Amino acid sequence: MSPSTPNVLISGSGIAGSVFAFWLLRAYPCAQITMVERSPSLRLTGASVDIRSSAVDIIQYMGLEAEIRRNCTGEKGLSFVAVRSPKLHVGRVVLLGDAGYATPGIGTSLAITGGYVLAGELLRHPDDFGAALREYEGLMQPFVRNHDGVGEQAMQYLNPQTVRGIAVRDAYLRVMGLVMWSGVGQLIMMVVAWLGWKEKKLAMPAYPWPAVKG
Ligand SMILES: Cc1cc2nc3c(=O)[nH]c(=O)nc-3n(C[C@H](O)[C@H](O)[C@H](O)COP(=O)(O)OP(=O)(O)OC[C@H]3O[C@@H](n4cnc5c(N)ncnc54)[C@H](O)[C@@H]3O)c2cc1C
Repeated sequence: MSPSTPNVLISGSGIAGSVFAFWLLRAYPCAQITMVERSPSLRLTGASVDIRSSAVDIIQYMGLEAEIRRNCTGEKGLSFVAVRSPKLHVGRVVLLGDAGYATPGIGTSLAITGGYVLAGELLRHPDDFGAALREYEGLMQPFVRNHDGVGEQAMQYLNPQTVRGIAVRDAYLRVMGLVMWSGVGQLIMMVVAWLGWKEKKLAMPAYPWPAVKG
């Protein structure tokens, strides 16, 4: 990688690849980025997701919060995926987002945070690609482990194996749907925030992003 014109191939234009491309261009405006995508068209289905923790700050830095809020949507059904890699890089190949740390309930936020951190570390280490990837892995792995468990447990509860379990799950989802639809869910979240509960954020370096040229 030459410091001013890194040549990067991104496989997948999901949230992780897109956020990484955004920040890599902020770090290196002359970067040569090739993005390949398996899907021939924009997919209009998918899981509804929330954006949490450090990812909220990153979305705000990107100036996208209002746009995302404008495009909030509902959910008609769901399916499951679970992938976890013990290593996030080999040589010059890096795993980002679900490819490295699919974590139910916070995967989107981890993908956004990972894209930001990876570009930030490439900015901090312009002459040492290996160091940038090690720092990225060193920051992300403990943060991902910190979110282990809760999401996976939730996925187990949401995917019961008995008739009784399925009935309980369906009843729970109906009640939760009602709670969210009625606005009580937002009220509960506001009270929780008012009581001072805050989600743990990733302690990351202040990256020296170049100023955006107007
Ligand atoms: C049921 C469910 C509920 C979820 N709920 C939440 C939630 O509440 N909060 C949350 O934060 N996250 C949630 N997630 C997780 C979230 O959807 C993912 O973590 C997030 O989309 C990961 O982004 P990504 O860019 O890494 O991967 P993806 O969004 O999967 O994007 C990867 C892209 O790569 C493309 N691709 C794959 N292979 C290739 C290839 N070989 N060549 C080229 N392109 C390729 C794919 O077509 C895709 O466009 C949920 C997921 C599921 C399934």
